[in-house]
Amino acid sequence: MIVKKRGKTLEMMRLDALLRRLPESHYKKGTVQNDYKKKISELRGEREVDYPLGFLDDKDYLILHNVRLADVNGYFQIDTLILTEKYILILEVKNWYGTILFGENGQVTRVGDDQKEEGFANPIPQVKTQLHRLQKWIRSRGMPAIPIKFFVVISYPSTIIKSTSPNNIIPNEVIHNSQLFFQIEELSSKLPPSGLRMNQLINLSEQITRCHVPPTENILGKYNLSMDDLIKGVVCPSCMGIPMIRAKRKWFCNKCNHSSVNAHLIALNDYKLLIGDIITNRDSRSFLLIESSHVAKRLLKGANFKAIGSTSKRRYELTLNLNNQSTSL
Ligand SMILES: [Zn+2]
Repeated sequence: MIVKKRGKTLEMMRLDALLRRLPESHYKKGTVQNDYKKKISELRGEREVDYPLGFLDDKDYLILHNVRLADVNGYFQIDTLILTEKYILILEVKNWYGTILFGENGQVTRVGDDQKEEGFANPIPQVKTQLHRLQKWIRSRGMPAIPIKFFVVISYPSTIIKSTSPNNIIPNEVIHNSQLFFQIEELSSKLPPSGLRMNQLINLSEQITRCHVPPTENILGKYNLSMDDLIKGVVCPSCMGIPMIRAKRKWFCNKCNHSSVNAHLIALNDYKLLIGDIITNRDSRSFLLIESSHVAKRLLKGANFKAIGSTSKRRYELTLNLNNQSTSL
């Protein structure tokens, strides 16, 4: 049973909004575009594991995706966590493609289609650290000890995993996605009962879900950008032209002649994703490119945003979340 979904769409939506609002000529455009592509491929890779996990019996396995927990050292993140009565399983998903070589001293090199070599950190110590932190986290909650196992799952079936010489052994925990279901079944049949019952695991899964801390991302800060770097204005929902012009209580597009009553909501959603939940009348005018504070007030009030503070310092809480802004993958 999937107890916790990935919920990474917000990160994608932020990147999507930033791409839309960053001019083509901006020196950070390429970096943001690359990060966007990487994120898509990362998400696709993670979703590859859904297929084998779909064969696991719902009543025996609790699945939590994208878990981020706090401990004394900060936060640790786990791609997928599976709870079952005999053990807990950590899955670290790698969307590596091409040929992966395990070399001396655990060095990992990827050779791409273009024969270019790229070095990676060995995933085993990384997952072992997660395992150690998770073990401590569970213990600190007064739960009985339960064995924790892990797999590094190579998500793409075409990826070749090799060692550079017979002396360098590919760790047993590194597996292809296609082996995942069988490896889990084998673990489940091999390990002795841990003494933990399903109701205790459900309790643990609820604690984990409750304690999950989504990364609070200040995306402009991350790329060292400010409001000044962004393209302002209301985007035309029909031709994506920007800005639409406010006239006669509507938004008009000069490029395609489309008119819209509520196109500003999409722009305000961009504001929320990129800058924050709170907006003042002045900020809304500079972002939507409107001059009249009365118009701005009418738009903000008309959208039923919660008003905070007195008349002169009134701010509005942008509570909208437009699903049509999410990126389809
Ligand atoms: Zn248009």
